[in-house]
Order: sequence, then structure tokens, then C-alpha cells
Amino acid sequence: MEEPQNISDAGVTAPDNSAVNAALLSQQARRRRARLRFSVAVMAALILTGWLASRLLLPDVPKPVLSAKPAPSHPAIAARWARLAPMQRDYESDELIAGDSLAALLARAGIDGVEADAALDALRTEFDPRKLNIGQKVRIFKEWPSDGVADSKAKRFAGFDFIPEPRQRLMVRRTGHLSFDVVKQVRPLSERFFFTDTLISSSVYEAARGGGMSPNLVVELIRLFSFSIDFQRDMREGDQLEVLYTRRFDENNQLAEEGDIIFAALTNRGKRYAYWRLAHDDGSHAYYDENGRSVQRLLMKTPVDGARLSSRFGMRRHPILGYTRLHRGLDFAAPRGTPIYAAGSGTIVALGRNGDYGKYIRIRHRNGYETAYAHLNGYARRLKKGAQVKQGQIIGYVGATGLATGPHLHYEVLRHKKPVNPRDLDVPPERALDATELEKLRNAQTAIGARINALATNDNRLRSLPRRNLSAAQNR
Ligand SMILES: [Zn+2]
Repeated sequence: MEEPQNISDAGVTAPDNSAVNAALLSQQARRRRARLRFSVAVMAALILTGWLASRLLLPDVPKPVLSAKPAPSHPAIAARWARLAPMQRDYESDELIAGDSLAALLARAGIDGVEADAALDALRTEFDPRKLNIGQKVRIFKEWPSDGVADSKAKRFAGFDFIPEPRQRLMVRRTGHLSFDVVKQVRPLSERFFFTDTLISSSVYEAARGGGMSPNLVVELIRLFSFSIDFQRDMREGDQLEVLYTRRFDENNQLAEEGDIIFAALTNRGKRYAYWRLAHDDGSHAYYDENGRSVQRLLMKTPVDGARLSSRFGMRRHPILGYTRLHRGLDFAAPRGTPIYAAGSGTIVALGRNGDYGKYIRIRHRNGYETAYAHLNGYARRLKKGAQVKQGQIIGYVGATGLATGPHLHYEVLRHKKPVNPRDLDVPPERALDATELEKLRNAQTAIGARINALATNDNRLRSLPRRNLSAAQNR
């Protein structure tokens, strides 16, 4: 069985002599060719390495600049530049002052004019530097080789950055010789909740400021209650203020912007006015009481800030005419020039001189209401008859035109053309919630109540007063 296999093997492994010689010759030739190819490859590699080394290691001499505005460098070139020159950097901060410009600020920092121009040109592709306001902080970066000494000679301008709005940082970076690019960075802000619960000793403003609220937020708070409470008449010492509000912080825990009032309650003479913020699907928001009634009314209680009620509605002896007649509105004494707000949104139906009323504005609102403003010193700019105004918009300024003894606002509310006492008015809510929105409000009330309880037990225990009915939803 084994023999035939051995024979067939011998036939393959034992060739004759001439075949062996030919095979040896061709093998030698193949080896020579391979050696040649290898040497050529090694030579080529050496030449290429030498060329690369010379490109990378020799100093990068800037080419003469032909144009003051060089073409932006290609990203690949910029990346190579960044790799070749590992740099250290530091920055100095400055801010825009009155009459200042970004160019002036850069000059102040000792930045060469040509470099500053190139950087500003880059910035202008994304942002108009004229939009910056006084007080805008700017960081100016300088850099130097990491193995060098950080003296003023070695340092060069590396760019600048600033935060034009809380959620955005703009960076202008050097990418090469006289070449800069702009990077827009989104700043993620985190929202934090704050709760203040305090007794009012002098004013709502002081109580809220004492609770850590920013002045702007306090103004919003006062506006919120101004539909239901007359601050000049109704406040009493010992009234209680509770506010849940937010502030937004950046990655470094720095306050980036003030947030919103989420919940506010004012206990005034034993009656509690509590309002919850609700965001609507259209992106707007409004405040509602526990039953879902909008806080915002068709008309504000007082269309002028910081005024003193100097004359009430009703029969009275006229100070100039000397006889008794119906005073058709309210008088608010205030310094000349004090802004007057539209009590509600609507259309200007009268604007101009109107006899004893002097300079006069009348606004038509919904539901048959009109409001009138008299004795004005002047009108808001560009305001015309037929114009639409929003609630709270400045329409004019307190004066003493027409029949008036001194600067004051005469304010009238008319219902179907008849004067009514603004004080007795139960004007309808600005907006009513549908069933879905009401459900949303209930959920918001529950969540807000839980948050307040958590905050109050954590860090407000000392100032905390016995809270009544913190969340209407919880007690339902
Ligand atoms: Zn009057």
C-alpha cells in the first residue's frame, strides 16, 4: 500500500541537473533586483525625511505682507502652526468706558494697530463691535513660546474674548501671522432657585432687596402685585412677602443673569395674594392665582410710579374754579416729567390739546373700557393717534398743562363712555386658562410648593415664618 506513494514523491523531489542550474540562476537575479529596490526605497525615504525635517525645524520666516488684510489661513496650515509653536498664554481684563471702542481698548492694552485691525476684521464677520455697551468686560490674551521667558518682548497678541450675552462667548483667536478667526461658544447656564420669606417693615422694595433679589426683579415683583394691591394705600407694617425666584450661573459658578419670579405671595392685612408663573405653549408666560385667574388685569391700578394720590373720585370743590363739581377721575401728584404708563393695552383714540385737560391722551381698551390721561407735560416720542400701545408702555410725562394748580396726572377710567371710579373697578382678568392649561397650572403649583418646602427647610429656617397655604394645590 505504501510503495506507489513513495515512487510518485521521488518524481517530484529529484529533478535533473540542468533544471537545478536554471533555478539557481533565476534565484540570484531575483535577489539582486530586490536589493536594488530596497536601496532605492531607503534613499528616497532619507531624502523625504531630510526635506520634512528642514521644513519643520527651520524657523518659519513670515513672508512679506502685501496686503493689510491677508486672506484667512487654511485650517490645515493653522493647525500646523499651532503644533509647531506650543505657546503659553495669559490675559489681562479691561472694560469699555464711556466714549470707548474695542479698538481703543486694544490700543490701551498695547496691541499693535495692524494686528488689532486684523483681529477686529475677523470679529466683524460674526459680530458688530459697535453693539457693545459701556462696562462690557473684554479679556485680551498674550502668548509666548513655552520654553521662552515671559517678558514683554517675547509676548505677542493672541486674541481676545468677551461675553456679549449671558449664553454666548465670542473668541477671536490668532491663527497665524496677521490672521485671526472667530469662535462662537454657547455657555451652558444652570438655573438655581432661591426662596425668600420675610416680614415687610418699610416697603416691599426693601423687603425684597433684603431677601437678595436684584433691583430689576423687584420692579417686576411690584408690577405683579400692582394689579391687586395699591402700595400707597394698602401696605401695613408686618405684611409678609414670600418669593421663589431663579438666577442663572455659568460653569465657573459666576452669576450670569437674573432669572424669573416663579412664585410670589404677599400677605397684606391678613389677606394672602399668591401668584404662580405658568409658561404657555407659544413661549409667553403669565402669572395666575390659585384658581387659574390671570394676575394681569385689563387695567393697572396706578398708571404712574412713585406718585401720591392727591384727589379722589367724586364730588369736590374745584381748587381753581371754586365751585363743587364731580371729579371724574383720580389725581396723582408727581414731579414734572415722571413717566406715565398705559394702564392697559389698546389703541390711542385721542392725543393732543383738549381744553382744561391740557395735553391729553385717551386709550380705547377691550370690553368697552377707555382710559384718559390729562395735564401732561409731553407725549412719548413717535406716539400718534391710532397707534397701538401695550400695558405698561410709557405714553407721556406728568405736567401741569390746561387747568392745573401744579404738576399732577389726572387719570380717568370710562366704561361705555361713562366715568367710573378706578378704585372701585373690578376689571376682568387679561386672560383665562382652558382646561389643559389649568391642569398644567395645578402641576406647576404642586412642583413649586415642594421646591419651596425643600428650600425653606434647608436654608431659610431662621427667617422662615409659619407658612399658610404655601401651595394651593397641596391643600386641595
Ligand atoms: Zn383731576
